[in-house]
Amino acid sequence: MSETIFTKIINREIPADIIYEDDLAIAFNDINPQAPVHFLVIPKKPIATINDIAEEDREVVGHLHFVAAKIANEKGFAEEGFRVVMNCNKFGGQTVYHIHLHVLAGKPLGWPPYQEGLKIE
Ligand code: 5GP
Repeated sequence: MSETIFTKIINREIPADIIYEDDLAIAFNDINPQAPVHFLVIPKKPIATINDIAEEDREVVGHLHFVAAKIANEKGFAEEGFRVVMNCNKFGGQTVYHIHLHVLAGKPLGWPPYQEGLKIE
């Protein structure tokens, strides 16, 4: 698969506000936040979409949720609540083809996300 901007962030080729890193994953604030708290947790391994998760990736993908909850606890919004989202492909609204968990927090979040008549290019 071709390299995305997230590989460049992992490799420090472009700047990002990195808030967590370990052997398997890295987390950084979203450049275009959709909530008072909005960061992304991504595997260091470049997996394009949820559809590309292999048997061998199960541990790392589970680890993304572990990291999200760990940061939520450390930042103090775990009890108040938050949302994790992973978008997949065009209808899911995915724009960067390196899987990432969105973590959104800091205010009550709307649900459901479906909007009648939404046009996707
Ligand atoms: P998607 O639409 O694929 O689920 O989410 C991609 C997310 O990556 C978007 O929320 C977008 O704002 C964020 N993003 C795209 N490019 C960059 C970047 O260069 N730096 C950071 N920090 N976030 C980015």
